[in-house]
Amino acid sequence: MSLLQGKVALITGASRGIGRAMARRFAEEGAQVAFTYLSSVEKGQALEEELSAFGGKVKGYRSDASEYKAAEELVNQVLTDFGSLDVLVNNAGITRDGLLMRMSEEQWDAVINVNLKSVFNLTKAAIRPMMKAKAGSIINLTSVVGIRGNAGQANYAASKAGIIGFTKSVALELGSRNIRSNAIAPGFIETEMTGEINEKALEEWKQSIPMKRGGQPDEVADCALFLASDLSRYITGQVLQVDGGMLT
Ligand code: NAP
Repeated sequence: MSLLQGKVALITGASRGIGRAMARRFAEEGAQVAFTYLSSVEKGQALEEELSAFGGKVKGYRSDASEYKAAEELVNQVLTDFGSLDVLVNNAGITRDGLLMRMSEEQWDAVINVNLKSVFNLTKAAIRPMMKAKAGSIINLTSVVGIRGNAGQANYAASKAGIIGFTKSVALELGSRNIRSNAIAPGFIETEMTGEINEKALEEWKQSIPMKRGGQPDEVADCALFLASDLSRYITGQVLQVDGGMLT
């Protein structure tokens, strides 16, 4: 199958975890893949080489998604290098956890800037070529935590809830231009982001999930593939939970 043949996709934060799995899945399905990384320079470069084996054009860019100007420059560079932009995946994200009582302004600002402002930055830059092409699919990584909240993650939950409001607003504004905007809300996915959770808490999380296990990055990537492809051509403004039933 080549569900993304002829499409150009830009994925932020693809050096590791879910972003990396999405970049791989998209390349497997025939997409030309532009992706970003920030601190994991070697991993980013290695991914470019790995994905080139699928035969399509692939390019990694070192770019900070939280910087407005950098996002604008990135999208312009992608357009120069690839010629068009059909799919934008806003995946870059961080956590800086702590109870509100102890949460610093720096912890708050870092998470809001990297997780939420980045979505504004990249989407603002990407809709210009998408409007011209009268087509586009924007996919934003939110979280079950953005739906339910989580003690110790007020900053992260606020950023992810903000992404849901943003996603739905963009769907309402740009539906008539054939630009779709959807969000994916993963539950507990086994990546470096969740790797720091202690063994006991991890087991408790898993037991609270109807499917009794954590998810894999590939399982989120398959959902992103669906939203990026024409299989979802009449779906916009939605939040798809990939959580093993966690919030059911
Ligand atoms: P991860 O393994 O920690 O990877 C995060 C990625 O984001 C890395 O590639 C990192 O790149 C990149 N990144 C961080 N700050 C960046 C910035 N300022 N500019 C550009 N890239 C940046 O995380 P993950 O688990 O794959 O999570 C991916 C997304 O899914 C996040 O938005 C996360 O909130 C969301 N999510 C994850 C889970 C989960 O259980 N894992 C659950 C719900 C939602 P460098 O290393 O190169 O800096």
